[in-house]
Amino acid sequence: MLVKRPPTDRPVFGQTTGGEHINPSLQPDRAVSRILRKKDMDAFLESVKAFGSLYGPRQVGPNQYQLMPVGDVAPVSAECRRTILPPKKFLIPARDDLCHFSADTGYRAAEVYTGERVILFGLHACDIHALVTLDLVFNGKYPDPRYLARRQALAVIGFSGTAPDGNCFCHAMGTSHADRGFDLFLTDIGDEYLVRIGSSLGDDMMRARVDLFGQVEREHIDAYKERSDRRQTQFDDTVVEDLPQILELEHDSPIWRELSERCFGCGACAAVCPTCYCYDVVDLVGTDGITGRRVRQWDCCLFQNFAEMSGGFNPRPNRTDRIKHRYYHKQVHFVERFGRPSCVGCGRCVEACPAEISLKDVIAAIRGRSG
Ligand code: SF4
Ligand code: SF4
Repeated sequence: MLVKRPPTDRPVFGQTTGGEHINPSLQPDRAVSRILRKKDMDAFLESVKAFGSLYGPRQVGPNQYQLMPVGDVAPVSAECRRTILPPKKFLIPARDDLCHFSADTGYRAAEVYTGERVILFGLHACDIHALVTLDLVFNGKYPDPRYLARRQALAVIGFSGTAPDGNCFCHAMGTSHADRGFDLFLTDIGDEYLVRIGSSLGDDMMRARVDLFGQVEREHIDAYKERSDRRQTQFDDTVVEDLPQILELEHDSPIWRELSERCFGCGACAAVCPTCYCYDVVDLVGTDGITGRRVRQWDCCLFQNFAEMSGGFNPRPNRTDRIKHRYYHKQVHFVERFGRPSCVGCGRCVEACPAEISLKDVIAAIRGRSG
């Protein structure tokens, strides 16, 4: 039996239609935003630590960032464009024990997460959409208690302040802005942040240091709209509107073979993808030969043995089949099942690929445009 975490009042966002997690006192026709001066950010983050373990983007190399604990010494790098690993690492760890077993006592389910709340600061809108996408999978027909326990203990403080680079195409994927899936969302509007309150928890966080927050005035609204207009012009013209249909038509395109000849099958693209969730389940037996554990670990559809079945049959035996499968799963099959693609346009796979395969270029090529 899996040990069940007691139900909490924290919603899992994929289960909602949006809005029902909002504090009823926050009426939609009234301002649910506040102003935070940039110089007060550190004091605010310090106060947020009272609500759980705070993580934020920290620089670990040239243009490289990771979501790490926010301590007293190293500051968060709110302006980072993307973290190397996405927030999924907090919900589906690279290795997760499912159960422990012994020849003497049989199987015992591993406990689900019961630790303190984890607060992720600095998530961009695309990563917030990615969390909602994972909810569709792990909180669907067969809810996953291990995922849900971690999800219910997760709080999100979103951030928008960085101009997109050439690898971003969240705008095309419809994920450059988030209206739900966060507790607070901060937008850089100059000397201040416009702070949107998305849940009762976010409201509590704001009220804990209400002295730092001001009312939204006309000048802030104008600054936000001016910034929003400017941001629209910073994205390129990647077009995905009818991509599922074009992919269906181009199922036998020579592009897939050309791609497979460049791809190393290393799996980096799936590891860094905020919505890739495929896993393998393996039994690891201890050196005593009688005890062990069953582990769920990240896997990748580009690995040769990913789809191999007992007896040796492999429905995707060559790399062309496998790389095509990755694109079709994200851009066609996920749309058929959930009404939206499972790519949020974060650009991580483009940045991580040692073969310099750009998803944006593939989309352009399949549409018959130069990349
Ligand atoms: S496929 Fe690439 S761009 Fe799309 S969500 Fe995954 S890592 Fe980001
Ligand atoms: S990161 Fe690039 S080379 Fe590696 S499996 Fe993905 S597409 Fe292929």
